[in-house]
Amino acid sequence: MRILLISDHADPLAEIGSKEAGGQNIYVFYLAKFLCKLGISVDVYTRWDRKNKKEVVKFNSHLRVIRVKAGPKKYIPRDNFLTVTEEFARNILKKIKKENINYDIIHTNYWFSGIIGLKISKIIKKPLIHVYHSIGKVRFDSLKNYKSQEANNEFFKIRTDCEKEIAQKADRIIATSPVERDIIKNTFGIDEKKIEIITIGVYPKIFHPIKTERARKLIKRENDQKIILYVGRIEWRKGIGTLLYAFREVVKKYPDAKLYIIGGGKSKTSKKLEELEYRRLGEISRELAIEDKVIFWGPKKQDELYKYYSAADVCVVPSYYEPFGIVPLESMICGTPVVASRTGGLKYTVKDGLTGYHFKTRNYADLTGKIITVFGKGKDSYAGNCLKRICDDFIWEEIADQYRDFFNQVIK
Ligand code: UDP
Repeated sequence: MRILLISDHADPLAEIGSKEAGGQNIYVFYLAKFLCKLGISVDVYTRWDRKNKKEVVKFNSHLRVIRVKAGPKKYIPRDNFLTVTEEFARNILKKIKKENINYDIIHTNYWFSGIIGLKISKIIKKPLIHVYHSIGKVRFDSLKNYKSQEANNEFFKIRTDCEKEIAQKADRIIATSPVERDIIKNTFGIDEKKIEIITIGVYPKIFHPIKTERARKLIKRENDQKIILYVGRIEWRKGIGTLLYAFREVVKKYPDAKLYIIGGGKSKTSKKLEELEYRRLGEISRELAIEDKVIFWGPKKQDELYKYYSAADVCVVPSYYEPFGIVPLESMICGTPVVASRTGGLKYTVKDGLTGYHFKTRNYADLTGKIITVFGKGKDSYAGNCLKRICDDFIWEEIADQYRDFFNQVIK
């Protein structure tokens, strides 16, 4: 079996943690990697966004990452991608023709890829399976609710129309949780039978628990302080601002507590994109007089993160909007409970009261209470449930099997 996978902006080999690279890049990387282990060949097509990137990277005998010329070979804001979908599709079709490749399935990720995929499937006549990763209407509603300037009505109208077209014309849709399945069904009015739920996973070789004391030694932290961890992009909608307000309350009860923030980009472009949010968060920390207890640690590589998750007492995911959220899975498999906003996929992955807690989105008082509850009970009282939650449902090897079975069912 051979898969044509399109991931317009999310290059699976990109620098992770920066504003424009996170969960989707990780998902594409691991999905492709584990499908390959099952003998399925995958070509990942992504936009060529830097001159000095190679056009084709042969990751192994079954997996290639192919950068496609679509617009200038440099960073362009994701929201401008609609203007390059035509060129994107044309250049993929050229490649297919040149190499005479016979794909069995087109798997598209995010709405621009969906549009590109529809153009390609018309020509090569192969089934198209789409994963949304983020749904315009839900994102718009939450941004509007919280009065973000990013809530551009005109743009989201175009996006929603395109997403609806994809829902109607794709052969099948994958939802990453039952929560997303219901959103897709209700937003686009499609038959539930067209939607398959296949969740996202974690790789236990990379993420696994180690004893808290050992983890703290490895990251050179003391044993007697409480550690709150945030991992993810430095972006307004991730809700780090709310976490800072909650943290100020937490330190009233736990004066030695520390908040570690992991994420952000290293490249010049990433740093520029994150500048405003960093400045805003720095100002809030100073105003709240917690700046000596909040440590911005920058991005960390995936294979280092288990030490930080294992060292923490709690991991907080304070997003205002979160379609799925891989970070909670990574934390839970390291035995660390998660306190997450009651939104999107977080409602499904985090089991309230068992593997951590949900809190009312953007409500710092509720978040404070939940963090203090976890501190009071101790992380060990959640660890068993956390590990069980992940081992039962979120291991990549098993998820790849589900994908293989589903693909076979679609091409039959
Ligand atoms: N991540 C990373 N290094 C960092 C920060 C984040 O590898 O410094 C990874 C993190 O481990 C997770 C992904 O980025 O796998 C974030 O995915 P998530 O779905 O939680 O958020 P998204 O990026 O989709 O908003």
